[in-house]
Formats: sequence, structure tokens, C-alpha cells
Amino acid sequence: MSKPSTIAIDGSAASGKSTVGARLAQRLGYLYFDTGVMYRAVTWAVLSRKINPENVEVVSELAEKLLIEVKPNGPQDGRLYTVLTDGQDITWQIRSPEVEAYVSLVSSYPRVRAALIAQQRRIAASGSIVMVGRDIGTVVLPEADLKVFMHASAEERARRRYHEILTQGKQADFEEILKAMRERDKQDREKPISPMVPASDAVIIETDNLSLESVLTRLEQLIVAEQTMGQVENKR
Ligand code: C5P
Repeated sequence: MSKPSTIAIDGSAASGKSTVGARLAQRLGYLYFDTGVMYRAVTWAVLSRKINPENVEVVSELAEKLLIEVKPNGPQDGRLYTVLTDGQDITWQIRSPEVEAYVSLVSSYPRVRAALIAQQRRIAASGSIVMVGRDIGTVVLPEADLKVFMHASAEERARRRYHEILTQGKQADFEEILKAMRERDKQDREKPISPMVPASDAVIIETDNLSLESVLTRLEQLIVAEQTMGQVENKR
């Protein structure tokens, strides 16, 4: 019996899902795809074109026509991949506080979601993929072979983000990061469509006191369990 071919990892901001997803994909030899990048790219395109993010119509039209490319390589500056819109490298721009302030709003628009989800399903269609986001197990790939939901307290996640920014040699304010994190969580949880909730069949992993290595070990155990279960079901 083969390994689970589609793996959905959902979780809140800075829960560690992106790092874990990327490392897991590397170990399995699978494609890694972070869907948050697409919502961020649309938000960046909205702001850089001076479009009002509250203008649902114009934002939706832009999302439907924007070309977003995610490439596995690029400059060696700590990036996991390179994000391009209309040929422009926006890998770091999409991580700005301005984008983070509006990304939940932009991603709450039904036409924006429909446009991006269609692209995400196409990317996942050939399998051998670890897809990361908020609604992968519930909406994008409800038939995923393995679903994981990663969770950590807002304080722990703000601490991680704070140290991440300091290691990049930049200034950071812990209280501000914590406040922005709580605000984005609230908006993501209360979205009328695709709210951030674990799928009923997702395995929930609390990462507050777990190292990256321990989370990966846990995921590898789940993959083996999934394989074994598949073998048992096949024999029935
Ligand atoms: O995961 P990341 O923090 O990069 O996601 C940025 C934002 O994009 C989230 O706060 C959420 O509003 C939105 N998002 C989403 N659905 C996804 C992934 C991200 O709505 N599958």
C-alpha cells in the first residue's frame, strides 16, 4: 500500500504549519504548496494598485485575473519559494504588516476564494502534495488522505513571529505582534465562508511545547498508521 498521496495541513497564523509542511514534503519527495501565499499575493496586488480593499467587486475581479506563480527556487535569502505576480518577485512584500492587516478581509470575499480554490485544486490534482492553509481539509481537499490541524496559543505564536523578525535583524514590538495575531485569528475564525476550523476527521496537534522535530516525528507516525490502515481495509 502506498503512502497517503494528499496531505492537508491547516492551522492558525505562525502555528508552525508552513515550516512543518515544507520539511515533511521534502522528506516524502512531495510538492509543498502554501495556499496562504495566494491570498497574500492578491492582497498585495490590491494595495499596490491603490484599490480600496473594501471594494468587493474590484478586488474580486482582480483575483479572477491575477496570475500568481509559486516557484521552488530563487535567491538564497531564507525563502522557501519565490512568489511572482505578473512576473514580479513579491516573495517578501507579501509578508508586510500592511498585507497582514487586510489579508483576512480580502480572503473573506466569495469570488476571491472561488478563484483561488479552483487553482489550488488543479495544483493538487496529480497528488504527492502537502498543501497548507486554513480550509484545506474542510473545503479545498475534503478527500485528502491525511488531515492535520496545528494549533498553538496566541502568545507562543507571537513569540515565534517576534524572534523570527529579530533574527532577520529588524525591529519588533511583541505586544503589537500579539494584538495583530489575535485580530487575524478572530477574523479567520469568524469568516462566514471557509472559517478556520479543523475538519471533523483531522488530527489536532498542539505545538506549544513541541519542537519542529517532534511535530515531524508525530506526522511520520500518522503517515505510517494511515498506510497500515489502508492495508487492513484492502484485505477486508
Ligand atoms: O497562512 P498565512 O498566514 O500565510 O495566511 C494568510 C491569510 O490568508 C490568513 O490569515 C487567512 O486570512 C488567509 N487564508 C485563507 N485560506 C487559506 C490560507 C490562508 O483564508 N487556505
